Amino acid sequence: MTTNDNKKPQKVLGAYALGALLLIFLLNIFVFPGLLERSIRETSYSDFLMNLDSHQVEQVEFDAQNYTIYYTVKIPDSDRSQTCKTGIINMSDELVNRIYTSGAEFASAIPTRQSPLMSLLVGLIMPALIFFGIGLLLQKWMAKNITGGPGGAMSFGKSNAKIYVKSSTGIKFSDVAGEDEAKELLTELVDFLHNPDKYRDIGASMPKGALLVGPPGTGKTLLAKAVAGEAEVPFFSISGSEFVEMFVGMGAAKVRDLFRQANEKAPCIVFIDEIDTIGKKRDGNIGGNDEREQTLNQLLTEMDGFDGSKGVVILAATNRPDSLDPALTRPGRFDRRIPVELPDLQGREDILKVHAKKIKISDNVNFHDIAKAASGASGAELANIVNEAALRAVRSGRRFANQADLEESIEVVIAGYQKKNRVLSEKEKLIVSYHEIGHALVAAMQSNSAPVHKITIIPRTSGALGYTMQVEDGEHFLMSKEELENKIATFTGGRAAEELIFHSVTTGASNDIEQATKLARAMITRYGMSDEFDMVAMETVSNQYLGGDTSLACSAETQTKIDQKTVAVVRAQHEKAAKILQENLPKLHELAKYLYDHETITGDEFMEILLKKQEAQTDAATH
Ligand code: ADP
Ligand code: MG
Ligand code: ZN
Repeated sequence: MTTNDNKKPQKVLGAYALGALLLIFLLNIFVFPGLLERSIRETSYSDFLMNLDSHQVEQVEFDAQNYTIYYTVKIPDSDRSQTCKTGIINMSDELVNRIYTSGAEFASAIPTRQSPLMSLLVGLIMPALIFFGIGLLLQKWMAKNITGGPGGAMSFGKSNAKIYVKSSTGIKFSDVAGEDEAKELLTELVDFLHNPDKYRDIGASMPKGALLVGPPGTGKTLLAKAVAGEAEVPFFSISGSEFVEMFVGMGAAKVRDLFRQANEKAPCIVFIDEIDTIGKKRDGNIGGNDEREQTLNQLLTEMDGFDGSKGVVILAATNRPDSLDPALTRPGRFDRRIPVELPDLQGREDILKVHAKKIKISDNVNFHDIAKAASGASGAELANIVNEAALRAVRSGRRFANQADLEESIEVVIAGYQKKNRVLSEKEKLIVSYHEIGHALVAAMQSNSAPVHKITIIPRTSGALGYTMQVEDGEHFLMSKEELENKIATFTGGRAAEELIFHSVTTGASNDIEQATKLARAMITRYGMSDEFDMVAMETVSNQYLGGDTSLACSAETQTKIDQKTVAVVRAQHEKAAKILQENLPKLHELAKYLYDHETITGDEFMEILLKKQEAQTDAATH
């Protein structure tokens, strides 16, 4: 099925065929009928009888269906004859006799409307040509729309892997910040390709494949490109989805072709991005996705097939490692699993610096602070933050981006743009002010909570009317039960403030409620933080890198208990938050008023007001 080679001639042939078809078609419609019709003269019946009687008619043919007589008449002074036609008045024996006696011949070969050649053309060749033409068109259409590749329908089963060589990507390991472990492992792979002897001497064999796993935007694709840039060997890059074809078996053919090419070019690296598209677990379902399974089977076979000594290394990337077929991830196929996790504080700072090199930025920017504020951001988000900062600088007519640009763009990336035209009513603004200060105050008053970084009540395009940004002091990898509870209390602080001040509740807390519930539930079902269930997991996380869906694994009764316990945990924290606010009511009022007036308040301002007030209070107490 690899007839790519005669594509050109075929195209030319197709064009000719189409042209010829069109010509014949037009001739047939407009020219031939006219020619033939013109050569047949229409005469009256009496003319026919006259010619008969003067023995000038040579041949006669009856077309009984159309009530027509065709006859030929001798043209005087030549040996040619003229074909004529006339209507039949009456098909009587007398007429037959009259023709017979005139010496004319009964014939059936008078060329009537179509020449025999024409009828052959119309009857046989034309349909064939039409089908051929349609076939060609269809093939072109399929080439464009279905296979996607430049080869088209006649090149099914050709892989469209792009070959990168050293210079073409231009991306080096130095362009990838953080991810030191991943870089180290990949550097070794590259070294193996460059100095195989060093490893062979000791008897170590080349790892056949490495699987990059991690959440989206952490630089998996980037790392692979860096490998391409560092390794001085051919680099094939293909995305898993490119193997997915409309027809069963085509994906498998593509895999075969890819590995054939790779074997020819060895030593080389093959990179399959988003491998979960083809590498999904095969399940026992009858009538499952045959095409995908065949493609996967072919991939497994190919990975077993080539010997490691040739130097074909397979890299693959995915953010759904748990959905991969176990056969694919076993040692011998993907020997190495390289985690590419979300960057830590240092990593974020490095990534920011790498991307800041691409824009003009003032020298006194403190990347450490930005990295701190952007906790949980992926590499892609950080790259986006830097770019947003540059855009913001341009918008405000400056030639360099500064600290404020970066800070604002964190919020843009996290919460969306400031909504210019949404004007909150005075009452709404007041409620939002109290709500946000409620969060902040509860957070600040609990010793284990992170201090507030910034509070704003400027509406964002994401729909948030305001938010409180908390920044962790340092990196946290463990969370104690108390810290989790304090977090829940902070989430409920917004609603608690509304209740306390306005004695009513609003829809503004829906996101808080969601997050508080999630945390409380996880404490009970996953972290073993309830007294009753001890260290039993009631829930398992399936999609760890993509949102982290959970599935319950317990009886219906236990589920009911879990629900009750979740409510109890949140309620306790909600009450705690209400109590904290009640105790600090004067501060709540003052801070809310300040936020209402200024719309944005930084962590420092917040703490200043909070502490000043406290001093005043303690002063009053001592007097
Ligand atoms: P994925 O892991 O989803 O494949 P990509 O590799 O496509 O993510 O990363 C998207 C973009 O994010 C990159 O082009 C790069 O600009 C940025 N990025 C992600 N991680 C890093 C990193 N560690 N260092 C520098 N830039 C990064
Ligand atoms: Mg990617
Ligand atoms: Zn809130």
